[in-house]
Amino acid sequence: MQYVSTRGEAPTLKFGEVLLEGLAIDGGLYLPEKWPRVTVDDLGVSTGSKPTYKDIAVKILKPFTSDAVHDQDLELLVDRAYSSFAHSDIVPLKEIGTNTWLLELFHGPTLAFKDIALQLVGQMFDYELAKRHERITIVGATSGDTGSAAIEACKDRAALNIVILHPHNRTSEVQRRQMTTIESPNVHNIAIEGTFDDCQDLVKAMFLDEGFRAEQNLSAINSINWARVMAQIVYYWWAAIHCKNGKENIEFSVPSGNFGNIFAGYGSHLMGLDISKFIVGTNQNAVLNRFFQTGSMVATDVVPTLSPSMDIQIPSNFERLLFEIYQRNGQRVKETLEEFRRAGELRITQRELEELQQKWTSARIDDDVTLQTISEIYSLTGELVDPHTAVGIAAGKAKRSSKSIPLICLGTAQPGKFPEAVKRATGIKTKLPSHLEDLYDRSEYFSVLPNDLEMVKNHIQNAVID
Ligand SMILES: *Cc1c(COP(=O)(O)O)cnc(C)c1O
Repeated sequence: MQYVSTRGEAPTLKFGEVLLEGLAIDGGLYLPEKWPRVTVDDLGVSTGSKPTYKDIAVKILKPFTSDAVHDQDLELLVDRAYSSFAHSDIVPLKEIGTNTWLLELFHGPTLAFKDIALQLVGQMFDYELAKRHERITIVGATSGDTGSAAIEACKDRAALNIVILHPHNRTSEVQRRQMTTIESPNVHNIAIEGTFDDCQDLVKAMFLDEGFRAEQNLSAINSINWARVMAQIVYYWWAAIHCKNGKENIEFSVPSGNFGNIFAGYGSHLMGLDISKFIVGTNQNAVLNRFFQTGSMVATDVVPTLSPSMDIQIPSNFERLLFEIYQRNGQRVKETLEEFRRAGELRITQRELEELQQKWTSARIDDDVTLQTISEIYSLTGELVDPHTAVGIAAGKAKRSSKSIPLICLGTAQPGKFPEAVKRATGIKTKLPSHLEDLYDRSEYFSVLPNDLEMVKNHIQNAVID
């Protein structure tokens, strides 16, 4: 399978290259040249016994990766990636109301859904680099959860350094400590005096700096990396099969920030999965909500909320959807995004918006409703949910088409990761699982730097081990 850039000007690449390159050299993001078609029967549903997560993962990932990964090796990589998960189903599905389910994506080592993609991508990096006898520096920006999941997946690996930029004082304490308490010579944490978007811009600028990119052999692990989106496609299939055999229309509600998670759901649909609605939940940073309501995207300032992993103004993976909306016209994507950079606004046509709204809807959920939702779910079901998950549940409740169509809400973080919000909503003090019990007593390792590209590049040149 070949991969193409959403801006149409970078060379097409194979999986191994897309994995390591992350961002395309024209500034675009990679997508498969053609979405492979899969049916639930291909995944073994018709045989009566329900396939396991690993069975489905291997079958879904094979057409995307077969150029770079041998069949038996893929099974091994999937097996290794998910052996660190604390639940035997990997992503258990729980009923939380009438025809309403919660898909718990947070049973990995860092307690958020990003482990699902990153545990696998970490394995794939090692596999591909060993084949090539290469070393890389992974650079990523995080609004909280990506960083710890990426560090956990990459720590102590011989063939790479990992540098993670987070916005100083804008992540939760648990999130920061999960990143900064890892003591490993190949792990480098930088706190940037700025927002998540500043961090993301610094990362993009480093990738567009050809000299620096080549010198460091830079690689991305942000959700702009195709391999992450790809790994997330799997659980939409898994959930649909375990909810309704994958043979009925269902709706998904997804708390969204950088748009990687819900775009993976759209990927599963473009491969053939019946999904009648995608519900995008946003917090007060509602740039996506405005887009799905009006067809216009306008960047404004970020405000901190109870769901910091969604405090994002420019959702990078949105570009992948735009490419599909524009029927894969990379030139038009490029012009639209250049205009967005210049004028701070982009707009699709009225016809495109109407077409989009057949499949997509959205809701903006503020902190008050988030807290109310946490408290409501607790009194109705006895389950605690984290504030991100609560945004998705509230959006699903507000925007589902009807209670006769199953709704699956994605649970993106364990409640113990956001103890303050959960306590405010329910009065309950959550505990971290035993492997993180002493997190607050561990030493932290990180540097604070201004939002300045040259200083960040210098710091990285001095810090990485070769
Ligand atoms: C990253 C994250 C999100 C947002 O996911 P995107 O793929 O960026 O849209 C939501 N909830 C949690 C807990 C996260 O860590």
